[in-house]
Amino acid sequence: MSVRRRAFVARCVAHAGTLLVVAAATVAAQSTKEPPRVVERPLPAQRTAAPIPTPASVIGFEPGTDRKLPTWKQVTDYFTALDKASPRVSVRTLGKTTLGRPFLVAFISEPSTLANLDRYRQIQRKLMDPRLRAPGEREKLIADGKLVVLITSSIHSTEVGGILTPLVLADRLARAETPEARQVLASSIIMLVPSQNPDGVDIVGNHYRATLGTPEEGTGPPDLYHHYAGHDNNRDWYAFALNETRYTVDSLYTPWDPQINNDIHQQGANAGRIFIPPYMDPVEPNIDPILTAGTNSLGSAMSWRMISDGFTGVATNASYDQWSPARQYSLNHRGVRILTETASARLATPIDLPFDRLGPGRGYDAREVTWNYPVLWPGGTWGIGDIVKYQTAASWALLVEAARDRQGWLESYADMGDRALGTLPAWGKDPWPSAFVIPKAQADTQALQRLVWTLQHGQVEIRQSTGPVSAGSTSYPAGSYVVLVRQPFGAYAKALLERQRYPDLHEYPGGPPKAPYDVTAHTLPLLFGVDVAAVMGDPPATDGIIPAMAEPRFTSPLSDRRARRIAIFRTSRGESMDDGWTRWVFDKYRVPFTTITEKDVAAGALNEKFDAIVVPDQAPAQLARALGDAGDAALGAFVDGGGSLLAFNDASAFVTEALKLPVKNVLEGVKNTDFYAPGSILGVEVNKASPLGAAVTAPVPAVWFEDSPAFEIVDSTSATAVLTYPASGNALLSGWLLGAPRLNGKAAMVDVKRGRGHVVLYGFRPQYRAQSNSTFPLIWAALK
Ligand SMILES: [Zn+2]
Repeated sequence: MSVRRRAFVARCVAHAGTLLVVAAATVAAQSTKEPPRVVERPLPAQRTAAPIPTPASVIGFEPGTDRKLPTWKQVTDYFTALDKASPRVSVRTLGKTTLGRPFLVAFISEPSTLANLDRYRQIQRKLMDPRLRAPGEREKLIADGKLVVLITSSIHSTEVGGILTPLVLADRLARAETPEARQVLASSIIMLVPSQNPDGVDIVGNHYRATLGTPEEGTGPPDLYHHYAGHDNNRDWYAFALNETRYTVDSLYTPWDPQINNDIHQQGANAGRIFIPPYMDPVEPNIDPILTAGTNSLGSAMSWRMISDGFTGVATNASYDQWSPARQYSLNHRGVRILTETASARLATPIDLPFDRLGPGRGYDAREVTWNYPVLWPGGTWGIGDIVKYQTAASWALLVEAARDRQGWLESYADMGDRALGTLPAWGKDPWPSAFVIPKAQADTQALQRLVWTLQHGQVEIRQSTGPVSAGSTSYPAGSYVVLVRQPFGAYAKALLERQRYPDLHEYPGGPPKAPYDVTAHTLPLLFGVDVAAVMGDPPATDGIIPAMAEPRFTSPLSDRRARRIAIFRTSRGESMDDGWTRWVFDKYRVPFTTITEKDVAAGALNEKFDAIVVPDQAPAQLARALGDAGDAALGAFVDGGGSLLAFNDASAFVTEALKLPVKNVLEGVKNTDFYAPGSILGVEVNKASPLGAAVTAPVPAVWFEDSPAFEIVDSTSATAVLTYPASGNALLSGWLLGAPRLNGKAAMVDVKRGRGHVVLYGFRPQYRAQSNSTFPLIWAALK
């Protein structure tokens, strides 16, 4: 797996029935490259026998043509045609997307490999789990096995190169016109998911085609490009809330646990042309260091190859970190994750970007040569053709570099299995528990079942104890659920069951906090409100692995009833992911609702139509702009007339201001050097005298805090604190928090009486990415 100097690069071009093989001697400096030698030889007859459709012949244009995007139907037509024409490609439909489109994967390999996929899957399973191997079988499995590579593309639908690049890659692999393509096919099984979000291909594509030639050309669509999650759809890799995540996890990751995931994305336009790992710090401490090293090695080999081939603007060790399991299923399941992020244009519309308009990315500056940005992109026009070219080159570099060392990849894959099932892993600075115990007697049975289901869905084995289990000073009864750390994905289970201590990173000593790429906490027992304890020392005695639990059905007092007329507010412009996750929770719980916009609010007489209005998290300025003074007055009249108004996270600041509520946000205008919590789980005390507080059953009451407000009550005759941060000490339970004393004694949730109705202010996201099961009851209680 080490990065080796390549003796030569071979590139081939199909040309009128012959193959031109261009072999160029590669030397360290590209400027001294020798001129290419050209060798002609005939194409094998078999390749001319069954014509392979070009992408252009099916979608009607060359992938990478300015101002051209395919529909999902065209993409599926192409893969269907390729499946028919090429014995190297086998396309399957894994299910229907959220909005009903087919979700595809193309298996690509040698025909003899595709004909024996199940045999190769068995080899892969045995390499993954040493318990399945016969003694002495390991070497033979490594000799016979294939390198399994999962390519996931265009999960983010405005990153439109990712819709086209899979077509170019599939075409190149199906033709296999070069020795390196043939080596890739001989060594690998490639699972190509052309879009991880097919609905978005059309949501973005339809908007793009409709606005071509107008001032809106190249802008994003007004709606979320994933029905529920929008851009958050790649933050679902441990919660499994979305259909699309489940197809890839259930049908590809779980049966195969690939050695490599190539995840194709795009970034902003104005810094480097492409990011390739190594990532920046921090590293989630439970990730096997073999995978971190493998990611660094393969990523470095890719950028080395791309730069040798003349690509410029290649950044590494920049922008993206290796922390949250929400974005990196593979790194928690034996696979390196190679995220590439290519610079964007305006969808498929080119942009002109002179060098002096380029600027810094995180960890480098696109105007300076540094070790992690060794060759400058000179600036100029940048369009969809460039994006597809970079993405294709990076993916190809990955496939070729990995295939060169198939054996090394399989050896280290088997090593990880031996380690996970052998002595406990030796990485990290703290001693590891031997197990986690989850007692069956929990206040919220649904949450317990959902926790077990969520762990099992990520391939975690769960057993039951045969006797009492001691954890700390507590003894749990026989028959409790037990998660042994010594199991194939024990380190992943540990990451989800323990509390995170995000490192205290700053831009410079004494400077502002270094923003994490995403959020900093993922502790499921706190998010679900379930009691879980770590067992240190010898693992408890258990019997066998319990069978996979059927997915628990969500229920609430409002489920399957039309007892209350509920509206969820969204602005008609400015898509909101929090609105999407709110709808997800309501849909999953089968609680009927109506979506309303500022036009419905302006129409007034809201009490005639609704009993409650929910305002999901959105920037207060955006809400104020959309609603205006008349909207504020209509919402005030709705509450005065007996309505319930619920405001989540930042929307609570808007509602406080608009309705002149006797509540103050003490974090308003506070600098990030004085207070910072960019996605953390905080502990709260519950006012059980409040009917809302009475809904909380979590053993450790906690809220999801993400740049949220904290309240001081100005007039306690009308406002009551439902949840309060502790009066002293640090509220942080998991993640990262700077300036903890500012929260002491402040309210996290307030119920304000006004007229005949009330306003409920949530200073957190009670429905955060479908995971805060412990705070869902606070939503239902306010709607009753
Ligand atoms: Zn992306």
